[in-house]
Amino acid sequence: MDERKTKLEEIEKEITNLKSSALCLERIKNKVLPVIGEGDLRAHIMFIGEAPGKNEAKTGKPFCGRSGKLLDEFLASIKLPREKVYITNIVKDRPPENRDPTPEEIEIYAPFLDRQIEIIKPKVIATLGRFSMQYIMNRYGLEKELGPISNLHGQVFDTTIAGEPVKVVPLYHPAVAIYNQHTKETLMGDFKVLKTLI
Ligand code: URA
Repeated sequence: MDERKTKLEEIEKEITNLKSSALCLERIKNKVLPVIGEGDLRAHIMFIGEAPGKNEAKTGKPFCGRSGKLLDEFLASIKLPREKVYITNIVKDRPPENRDPTPEEIEIYAPFLDRQIEIIKPKVIATLGRFSMQYIMNRYGLEKELGPISNLHGQVFDTTIAGEPVKVVPLYHPAVAIYNQHTKETLMGDFKVLKTLI
């Protein structure tokens, strides 16, 4: 059995039963699913979103609703098959009404994300939206470089995680591009930057 798969299954079990989290209790009550992440366990690139939405909680799959369609479009634009990347979120259970995750919720779920990063060992981390940008940059030694996403999107930041070089690329969240053609074009351009890193 693949060791990475075993370790990720352990994470899934812990999150499934994370009774200390109000979002977990809400998920059990609503009979929906946690969204752990999916993709290639040896992916070169890991995408990190915010939290599952309604479609994601129904299926247990990240980015399978409207934002996911756009993410698929961006990936296709650089000919990067979705199966070749790993996609996850900071928060693994859906916040009610799709509200922003709270700092407390991020604190509860982020250690699982840290473990996923350690297991998958991506060379490139692409954050989707400001919550994952802020978390990843603060967590992995890039806090001095932090600023508004409008300044940082599409830039490449070098750091090390567990002694290995990793590039962090902040991107706008695809949901912003649903109603904003300008952001969509910006994201298309930023994905071209990602292509140069693979
Ligand atoms: N938005 C996110 O941040 N993550 C998902 O999985 C879906 C929508």
